[in-house]
Amino acid sequence: MISFENVSKRYLSGQEALSNVSFTLREGEMAFLTGHSGAGKSTLLRMIMLMERPSQGQVVVGEQNLTQLGRHELPYHRRRIGVVFQNHHLLFDRTVFENIALPLQICGYEPEDAARRVRAALNKVGLLEKENQSPISLSSGEQQRVGIARAIVHKPRVLLADEPTGNLDPELSEEIMKLFQQFNRVGTTVLIASHDLSLIERMRHRTLVLRNGRLIADGRG
Ligand code: ADP
Ligand code: ADP
Repeated sequence: MISFENVSKRYLSGQEALSNVSFTLREGEMAFLTGHSGAGKSTLLRMIMLMERPSQGQVVVGEQNLTQLGRHELPYHRRRIGVVFQNHHLLFDRTVFENIALPLQICGYEPEDAARRVRAALNKVGLLEKENQSPISLSSGEQQRVGIARAIVHKPRVLLADEPTGNLDPELSEEIMKLFQQFNRVGTTVLIASHDLSLIERMRHRTLVLRNGRLIADGRG
């Protein structure tokens, strides 16, 4: 589902963020991506979203080789991927419902169809009863669940997360990880960047380890 073949990334600054990285994540697999701050985790995730292009090598997502993807195909590519961020980027002047509906409106869904999907997504993260509240009135764990609902509302085949539990205590972190497992169980391919090693160990999934842009380990956590 996601394949990196000898991928290197050198930024314009001259910083080599990834060096000769190769791995394959099969459809329906779930894995963690870990390593020190600056190891290249965000860069790797940004390549899957095509927010960065490799300096060398190939990235394939689904059947699509991203080096061959044209500019006009970019929005379609991004729609196949859901992304969860550490600080969730929620809009506090909109309700929970509106925050999740936004990506669907951008894609041109009919309001009724959008509403049905938003409620299905909220139901999956256990927040149906909060749909009319502002995210600002929610706890940080609930806010992160809104971020996850927004990421999965268009049913992406791939779900990426960059430090999704960075602001949460261990108990809430585990709850969030269980949500990711739940989406993985129904077939979504999941890749989560995290430096929370104790959490990763407890989850017992495949773990890719980056150090200074190199993939130095790939095994069971
Ligand atoms: P991580 O997510 O593991 O903390 P990053 O992928 O953010 O690592 O960064 C990898 C390296 O690339 C770091 O040295 C970082 O400073 C550098 N870097 C990241 N983004 C950019 C950028 N847009 N321009 C230049 N250097 C960058
Ligand atoms: P993360 O905490 O996920 O590793 P960072 O704080 O490293 O993210 O990076 C946040 C943003 O700053 C990213 O968009 C990245 O491209 C940019 N960035 C990171 N390091 C550098 C750098 N050395 N030079 C320029 N931009 C950078």
